[in-house]
Amino acid sequence: MRLGHVSLKVLDLEAALDHYTNTLGMLVTHRDGDERVFLKGWDEWDKYSLILNAASEAGVESIAFKVEKPGELDDFLRRIDASGIAVAEVGQGELPFCGRAIRFQLPSGHTMFLYAEKAFVGKLVGATNPEPWPDGLKGAGVHWLDHVMLMAEVDPARGINKVAETVDFFRDTLDFHLGEQVMAGPNADIQVAAWMFRTTTPHDFAIGAGPRAGLHHIAFFLDDWSDVLKTADILAKRRVKVDVTPQRHGITRGSTTYFFDPSGNRNETFAGLGYLTQPDMPVITWTEEELWRGIFYHTGDEIGNFLGVYT
Ligand code: CA
Ligand code: FE
Repeated sequence: MRLGHVSLKVLDLEAALDHYTNTLGMLVTHRDGDERVFLKGWDEWDKYSLILNAASEAGVESIAFKVEKPGELDDFLRRIDASGIAVAEVGQGELPFCGRAIRFQLPSGHTMFLYAEKAFVGKLVGATNPEPWPDGLKGAGVHWLDHVMLMAEVDPARGINKVAETVDFFRDTLDFHLGEQVMAGPNADIQVAAWMFRTTTPHDFAIGAGPRAGLHHIAFFLDDWSDVLKTADILAKRRVKVDVTPQRHGITRGSTTYFFDPSGNRNETFAGLGYLTQPDMPVITWTEEELWRGIFYHTGDEIGNFLGVYT
């Protein structure tokens, strides 16, 4: 149904908490001592969409998608097993505040969960005659966790393409739709990045090629371009390390700003619908020559660290 949460590793829990609450405006919904904190955006209704885990390295611990009905977990368990990927049942509550779940390792090497039930908290504006936005939001006041982009190993010389393997798995086994892709190589037959969706937004999951598995970024939704600009102001005021100032993406058409949390995990604030996705939408393909136009539409310039630096 949607990206349910991302479990992040952070080097300094208090510094991370300050970032995700005071800069991004997320709300703390639970805390396990000095170990981990659970947060949600004001416009989300489930208990959390982000877990911050105190760790000795930065990066992503796992990602989790929510399915609509518990019975679907049995179908996915069978299908994932049939695809040749090891899948385990996870008891109720083992994934905090969630019902039973299933856990498996993506071809990219990342751990992923599917679950159907998570404790309900509700939107900050409630569900009866709601105001359009709540008072007292801090920082960017992000609405919700919009998507996650992972990195996976691609080495054509050794016949390795874990991006393509992961995309095939998401499409064929998890019923995701492919929205956009980048095809590279002399014959333009090497899939080096992809944007996939279950919702009607241009992507809920993305994956790109790198020398090793990792996290490229997690992205939070804002209404529109002026919110992206204001967020960049907030980043500057708070002396947050900005990666890319407000821009338009060619791929997905979103407006965007990239920056880093105190552990070096890349964040994005992403605004606008981009376009409405539907399961039968033709797949959009970007060529290697126009890759950077796809990433940063206005300049089309390569920003080396953007693909080379990640956690
Ligand atoms: Ca999305
Ligand atoms: Fe993104």
